[in-house]
Amino acid sequence: MAERTWDRPMKKASFVFSDGQLDYKFSDTHPFNQKRLVLTADLLKNIGALPDSAVVRSRMATDEELALIHDERYIEIVKKAGHGEIAPEAAENYGIGTEDTPIFEDMHEASAMLVGGTLTAVDEVMEGRARHALNLGGGLHHGFRGKASGFCVYNDSSVAIRYMQEKYGARVLYIDTDAHHGDGVQWSFYDDPDVCTVSIHETGRYLFPGTGAVTERGSGKGYGFSFNFPIDAFTEDDSFLEIYRTGVREIAEFFKPDVILTQNGADAHYFDPLTHLYSTMKTYREIPKLALELAEEFCGGRWIAVGGGGYDIWRVVPRAWSLIWLTMTGQPLPSGPLPKEWLEKYGPQSPVPLMPDWEDPDPLYEPIPRKAEITEKNRHMMDKALHLIRSEQQRRG
Ligand SMILES: [Zn+2]
Repeated sequence: MAERTWDRPMKKASFVFSDGQLDYKFSDTHPFNQKRLVLTADLLKNIGALPDSAVVRSRMATDEELALIHDERYIEIVKKAGHGEIAPEAAENYGIGTEDTPIFEDMHEASAMLVGGTLTAVDEVMEGRARHALNLGGGLHHGFRGKASGFCVYNDSSVAIRYMQEKYGARVLYIDTDAHHGDGVQWSFYDDPDVCTVSIHETGRYLFPGTGAVTERGSGKGYGFSFNFPIDAFTEDDSFLEIYRTGVREIAEFFKPDVILTQNGADAHYFDPLTHLYSTMKTYREIPKLALELAEEFCGGRWIAVGGGGYDIWRVVPRAWSLIWLTMTGQPLPSGPLPKEWLEKYGPQSPVPLMPDWEDPDPLYEPIPRKAEITEKNRHMMDKALHLIRSEQQRRG
């Protein structure tokens, strides 16, 4: 007799990975460095939190799947660029071959592998093999329909959301806590009321990509389904978490999603070299908790998480991303020292001294004189961002 899906004990979570994801590499000196995937998986294995049985190999996305979002012409250009068949000047019109997103060998194949990882994670959850799934190789939220941008060639989250709509008929809540605005995903679904995008990020006043204002609320039928929380530079844990917890919960209650996709860029940390936010590990312990809570409350547990930015790959990303997996699998969050073996293995490779503990020292930096002012400014911004939902609720009483 054929095995029925409900006869199988459902895994708590699937960890999607394959070595092919490490081929997404612009150069030895580029800040986007997938070595973070190895550092994270190794850290988890060292504490016995990542058994082989939890790992699911990612596949490559097909051209047809990529075309759910991307122009066929663009896909052809990416293929040609990676095979040395196009002049770099011609590729630049498509955002590739730039300083941010240089051409590299077989870039189509490597990029399609990251997208395939997120699709694998989606299928694990939507076909009931796991309650939650994690693809740390994904989260390339700046990729556009016909253009690469900000280290992102194909937009795995956009493709995955469209895939969930078409294959499973799901309403998707996308939550992006990367320090940069999740512009690519937002614009993909800007006029779609069945996808709700939420991005909390450092204000675009001085930071790439410059968009993500409170007033970007969606268009046409999608008006009111795009949410942005642009927080001030130097925002610290408490204010970040206040905006995140209040904002995301109110939006989830309003939208009532079938499934949650979180983009977990880890570049809001104080150590991150590309941004100006002042989060510590305290923020990264809390972010996955709310995602899990909301997925259980509204979505029968359906939660897919992807990676994203994160440019202090030694001191920040492995700890932050391990916490997502530990939360997903219901394992206690560790505190105290990191495993000795891991520190001894990677300490000599790291250009900076590794952090010895799961938590950051308190305080990690000198007090910020403008803290109260920043907190107030962020609250005011949040009230504006949630204004439509709140007035609708008041109207309904
Ligand atoms: Zn980022």
